Amino acid sequence: MPAFDAIVIGTGQAGPTLAHRLAGAGMRVAIIERHRFGGTCVNTGCTPTKTLVASAYAARLAHRAGEYGVSISGDISVDMKKVKARKDYVLGFSTRGVERGLRSNPKITVYQGHAHFSSPGSVAVGSETLSAPKIFLNVGGRASIPPIPGLEQVSYFTNSSLLDIEAVPKHLIIVGGSYIGVEFAQVFRRFGAKVSIIEAAPRLIAREDADTSAAIANILGREDIALYLRAKDLTVAKRGEDIIASLEANGVSSEIAGSHLLIAVGRRPNTDDLGLDKAGVATDAKGFIGVNDRLETNVPGIWALGDCNGKGAFTHTAFNDGEIVAANLIDGKARRVSDRIVAFNLYTDPPLGRIGMTEAEVRKSGRKALMATMAMENVSRAFEKGETLGFMKILVDAETRQVVGASILGVGGDEVIHVLLTLMYAKAPYEVMQRAVYIHPTVSELLPSMLGRLKPL
Ligand SMILES: Cc1cc2nc3c(=O)[nH]c(=O)nc-3n(C[C@H](O)[C@H](O)[C@H](O)COP(=O)(O)OP(=O)(O)OC[C@H]3O[C@@H](n4cnc5c(N)ncnc54)[C@H](O)[C@@H]3O)c2cc1C
Repeated sequence: MPAFDAIVIGTGQAGPTLAHRLAGAGMRVAIIERHRFGGTCVNTGCTPTKTLVASAYAARLAHRAGEYGVSISGDISVDMKKVKARKDYVLGFSTRGVERGLRSNPKITVYQGHAHFSSPGSVAVGSETLSAPKIFLNVGGRASIPPIPGLEQVSYFTNSSLLDIEAVPKHLIIVGGSYIGVEFAQVFRRFGAKVSIIEAAPRLIAREDADTSAAIANILGREDIALYLRAKDLTVAKRGEDIIASLEANGVSSEIAGSHLLIAVGRRPNTDDLGLDKAGVATDAKGFIGVNDRLETNVPGIWALGDCNGKGAFTHTAFNDGEIVAANLIDGKARRVSDRIVAFNLYTDPPLGRIGMTEAEVRKSGRKALMATMAMENVSRAFEKGETLGFMKILVDAETRQVVGASILGVGGDEVIHVLLTLMYAKAPYEVMQRAVYIHPTVSELLPSMLGRLKPL
C-alpha cells in the first residue's frame, strides 16, 4: 500500500494549492482527480461562464453601437462554435496549468480516477489503496436534478453540458431563477435565443433583497426574457421537436414550448460516492461534510474544504479554505472560517457585487443600523458610459459606524465592491472612506458622498 504523509482528493480550488503548500513543508503528497484538473471553476463554472458573459457583452454592445454613434453595416450574428472555441482556449490555460504544476512537483504524486475511503486512513483509487495520516477532501459539487415529472423523457442540459453546445438554441427554457440560471439567461438571450425562466419563488435570486431582485427582473425584462415566477406543478414532455413545460405561474396555467431545457436549481456536494461511512465522516442531511472553524471533520486527520463543506459556494471561499488549513497546519497561525466576510458577484450585465449582510438580514438582526442608496443614473461615469441601470446600497452599524453590508448593482459593481469589502476587513468606521478623495470620474467616487446620505433603517 503506497504510504504518503497527506492525500488530497479533488483538484478544485483548494486542493492543488494546499498540495503544493504541504509538499513545500516537506510532506509526500498524493492528489487524486477523477475528471478534469481544476474542477468546477475552471472547467464548468466561473471561467467558462465568464468567457460567455464577455461574448454576450460584445454581442449586446454591437447591437447598441448606434447609441454611441458607431455604425455597423451588415447583420450582427453570433457564431456559437467560435464562442465555444474561445471559451475552450481560455479554460485550457487554467486546467493545463493546474495539471502541469502538480505533475512537476517532485513531492506530489498525481493519481487519476475515482477515490473513495477504505478506512479512516486509507483511500482506494483504481486498483491501488493509498494511506496517509492526513486526508483532505476537496471534492466539490455538481448540479442537482429535481424530480420534475417527465424529465426522464426529455433531454436536458446542466451548467456543464450547456457550455458545449455549438448552435444558439431557438428557445431556452431555464428551470431556476437564481444566480446560475440568471447568468445563463442573459448570456443566451444576447446570443439570440428566446429565453424563459421558471422560478418557484415569488422573485428571482430570492436570497437577495426584494429591491435587488426587482432590479434584476427589470434588467432581464428589458431584454425580453420571459419570467414565470411562483411556479408550481411543473411537468415537462416532448412534443415533436419541442420540449413542453406545463406549469402554473403566479396563479395562471401556462405552457411553454422550448427547443432546449436547462436545469439550474442548485448544487449538491460530491459526497455520496466517497465511502464516507468507511471513514466515519459525518455529513448533514444534504450531504455537506460537517467541519469546525478550522475545517476539521469529526474524524481526526480528515479535513473538508471548498463546496463540499457547505461553508461557501465560491472559488474564493474554496481557495481561502486551503489557506486556512495551511495556516493552521503549517504556519502555526490560527486562521478561522468565521473570520471570512460573505462576498460574491452575480455576473449579469450590469453585475451585482455583494458583501456582508443584506438589508433584510440587518433588519432581522434587530441591530441599530443606517442605510444609504443611490441609483446608478446619478453616477456620472455610468451616464457617460451609457450604462445607467441598477443601484447601490450601503448598510452601516449605527454604533460601531462600520459597514455591515453593501450591494452594487451597476457598471463596474463587481470591482467597486472591493473598496467597501476592504473597509469591512479593516473594521474601519465609514468616516475613513468619507474623508478619502476618490478619482473622478469613477463609480467608486460616489461611495463617500453616498455615506453622507446615511439614514436610520
Ligand atoms: C455555472 C457556475 C458558475 C460559477 N461561477 C462562479 C463565479 O463566477 N465565481 C465564483 O467564485 N464561483 C463560481 N462558481 C462556483 C465555483 O465554481 C465553485 O464554488 C468552486 O469551483 C468550488 O471549488 P471546490 O474546490 O470546492 O470544488 P470543485 O471545483 O468542484 O472541484 C472538485 C474536484 O474534485 C473532483 N472529485 C470529486 N469527487 C472525487 C472523487 N471521489 N475522486 C476524485 N476526484 C473527485 C472533481 O472531479 C473536481 O475536479 C460557479 C459555479 C457554477 C456551477
